[in-house]
Amino acid sequence: ITAANLKPTQRVEIFCSYAIPRSFYTAVNNSSNQTCLRNADSLIRSKMVARCKAKRAFKLYHSDDKLVAKVARAVITPGKFGKLWRAGGGSSQSLLVVQEDLTNVESVSYRGPECWRAEEFRKWSRKNPQGFGVCLYEKDKISNAWLRRVERAKWRESQFICAIQMRCNMLPTLELRFGPRGRIPLCRACGVTSETGSHIMGSCRETKLNRMERHNKLCSLLAQEGAKKKWEVFCERRVTKMDCSWAVPDLIFVRKDTLLVVDITV
Ligand SMILES: [Zn+2]
Repeated sequence: ITAANLKPTQRVEIFCSYAIPRSFYTAVNNSSNQTCLRNADSLIRSKMVARCKAKRAFKLYHSDDKLVAKVARAVITPGKFGKLWRAGGGSSQSLLVVQEDLTNVESVSYRGPECWRAEEFRKWSRKNPQGFGVCLYEKDKISNAWLRRVERAKWRESQFICAIQMRCNMLPTLELRFGPRGRIPLCRACGVTSETGSHIMGSCRETKLNRMERHNKLCSLLAQEGAKKKWEVFCERRVTKMDCSWAVPDLIFVRKDTLLVVDITV
């Protein structure tokens, strides 16, 4: 995959869709801890190395990947695995040991694949600063639509990678480099306050023009959508409040007896 003449996201796609499931299915979906994997690995390897014939039977002789033996056990049906193991010279006794260790669903580290995605998401959400605000996007089809393959095709490769880094707070900011253990140094652009992701996106004076542009773009998009849905749309209309003070919300939508006051934050 590394040598192929592909875009980075295409490599990731192939890696995620084919390489990982093929090589690490059990290891990944079990969420097995390191000790468990290391034990399983050394156990299987010791059995496999001792029985070259068995290695040949599994076509593993080209590989010295530490998890291949475990994966072989996972992808071959139990009955067939036993037959191959014995044909390769392994004893019935050692087969029992190997199978016990890898199929023990009662073991503490075993966890079914159904909760794996949610579990990883929770782990990331708890990270500081990487998990900041990430929980807002959990199972949000609208906010995550841009990650779908069809939508992704509209992006330049570099933009897409940058957007992913931004989504999981992995842009190379000083907050990422120093926080949360140390004190975050001042923003390299304005020098006013700590260089955090939220400062760069939300309040740094050096990014103000971009921020305004983003804000205006969103306002016009929303106004267009509102008009399409038969709302009467007012942009930046001055509104006097009950206490005689006034405000200028970005948008006001009116339809029949419903009125929505919308102020967009980017
Ligand atoms: Zn700044």
